[in-house]
Amino acid sequence: MEKIKILKKENATHDVVHLVTEKPENIQYKPGQAVDIAIDNPTWKNEIRPFTFTSLPEDDHLEFHIKTYPDHNGVTEQIGQLKAGDHLLIGEVFGDIAYKDEGIFLAGGAGITPFIAILKDLKRKNKIGNNKLLFANKKEIDIVESAFFRDLLHKNFINILSDEDKPGYEKGFISRAIIEKYKDIAQPYYYLCGPPPMMDAVTKHLVDMDVAESYIIKEAF
Ligand SMILES: Cc1cc2nc3c(=O)[nH]c(=O)nc-3n(C[C@H](O)[C@H](O)[C@H](O)COP(=O)(O)OP(=O)(O)OC[C@H]3O[C@@H](n4cnc5c(N)ncnc54)[C@H](O)[C@@H]3O)c2cc1C
Repeated sequence: MEKIKILKKENATHDVVHLVTEKPENIQYKPGQAVDIAIDNPTWKNEIRPFTFTSLPEDDHLEFHIKTYPDHNGVTEQIGQLKAGDHLLIGEVFGDIAYKDEGIFLAGGAGITPFIAILKDLKRKNKIGNNKLLFANKKEIDIVESAFFRDLLHKNFINILSDEDKPGYEKGFISRAIIEKYKDIAQPYYYLCGPPPMMDAVTKHLVDMDVAESYIIKEAF
């Protein structure tokens, strides 16, 4: 694995950190892909975890948005304590989520990260079109990069909150009814990423809606 320095660390939400790091010279990745990461210290260097690039391949640095679980003595709790100047170890790039064509992005919590990169890429190419983002979180304070998505997608940025009832937000989980409410092209692609229970539930809704498997692009967190 290659050693990279953390250049900047800031809070993206109350429990998500945004890291900007050095970029190894020979690294190659596509928007939506992830990479194996470990913390470069003797205790944690063998604890390898996947995280998704939220930078673009042509950027001169790497970016990550990492949800931390401070109550759990794991890697993300340690990442929460890192600071600029500390080092990470970076390994193999992988991941199956890639943009095909216009559709609906269905994200749960930290599952937003591949879509940050993909939507940044579409913005750069001036190809945002009629893509929609349905973003499920517990509360408003959990929404990552809210201003970025609002500016980019306007009415096509739809938030769903499970634990809060707020005007302008859908309430509950991503249901079949919500997906059907926002589906306005005949055959959209459905891009899914989130925790396994959310992925299972949403996949079932799509199967019930007779969406062909080739139109469901997904990765579980
Ligand atoms: C391809 C891929 C890409 C990913 N990209 C990202 C990304 O870009 N950003 C991101 O934030 N995550 C991402 N993840 C998820 C990330 O890899 C995991 O959150 C991380 O591996 C957790 O490691 P950990 O050592 O901190 O926690 P672990 O020790 O592995 O445990 C964390 C898990 O434990 C649960 N937990 C929390 N608190 C407790 C507790 N007190 N007791 C018991 N369990 C608890 C949490 O629900 C969480 O799922 C990705 C996952 C995959 C598969």
